[in-house]
Amino acid sequence: MLRIAVVEGDGIGHEVIPVARDVLAAVRPDIEFFDVEVGYGRWERTGSACGSETMRELRSADAVLFGAVTTPPDPDYRSVLQTIRRELDLYANIRPIEGEDFDIVIVRENTEGLYSGIEWTEPDRACTLRVVSRRGSERIARCACMLAKRRRHLVIGNKANVLKSDLLFVEICRREAERAGVPCRSHYIDALCLDVLMHPQHYDVIVTTNMFGDILSDAAAYLVGGLGMLPSANIGERHALFEPVHGSAPDIAGKNIANPIAAIRSAAMLLRHAGDSGHAAAIEAAVRTAVAKGIATPDLGGTAGTREFGDAVIRELSIALHP
Ligand code: ATP
Repeated sequence: MLRIAVVEGDGIGHEVIPVARDVLAAVRPDIEFFDVEVGYGRWERTGSACGSETMRELRSADAVLFGAVTTPPDPDYRSVLQTIRRELDLYANIRPIEGEDFDIVIVRENTEGLYSGIEWTEPDRACTLRVVSRRGSERIARCACMLAKRRRHLVIGNKANVLKSDLLFVEICRREAERAGVPCRSHYIDALCLDVLMHPQHYDVIVTTNMFGDILSDAAAYLVGGLGMLPSANIGERHALFEPVHGSAPDIAGKNIANPIAAIRSAAMLLRHAGDSGHAAAIEAAVRTAVAKGIATPDLGGTAGTREFGDAVIRELSIALHP
């Protein structure tokens, strides 16, 4: 039996996550879901975005299905997602991007880099410490090599020509790739962003540091029709959290127009991680069929609402699984 913590979060998280949860429930009625409240909404109401009891609840789950949280530009507010990633030690952020003639996986280090959380403000300057550790780099490199081994090759996204911290990152990734027998090359991140958009079919697994991976994957969303399409997994040794790449998108929240595909695909990644590849593949196929039938939210040029698209996916699943 699978126990899944469901965090809707803020903004469109309240719309896309219930849809993803219903899709999961449609294929796996045995799953036990429990809601956990986290985010800016909770902070406004209670003064705490995510307490220690919350962290205990998240830890107790077999996996977490996570929506998105709003991070306001308030100096007293700490990013909840960064805290959860660090507390659960979810060091690998895996972001697959698939199209007709390309299949890329971005493996982003998730616990350090520019999101180290080590920051301070002085009267005339503000500093953020970019931390690249040997341990952090080794474990993300191993994770990327494992994925690349089953596939073809590894590209290390970096800026080692300017940043000393990336010299260490590249050196460690190269060594781990050599050890794993994975062909690899290094690519400067700025040029890489452009090249991935121009020649996505040249790429397989890309490993990079925290913020570079964040930016690269948002940019790469262009290849597949926008942010509403991309799922992700946050994996650690003991815990796993699955979430759409997009944020809480307050501009479109509450209008039933958010694309739930990223959230539904994240739910499929959760099932695959839990060993249920069969139902994961069925969900992915049902999403493709619904889109092929012309059912889509406005960001993809359609007229379906968030909920209507979800219902269409559940219909396709029921046709596929109980013909
Ligand atoms: P946050 O501060 O939580 O990151 P944001 O609005 O800055 O929120 P995103 O939520 O990632 O950043 O979204 C950027 C824009 O992309 C949104 O304003 C929205 O217009 C669009 N977008 C994001 N997700 C979706 C989605 N699921 N469906 C449709 N459009 C989306």
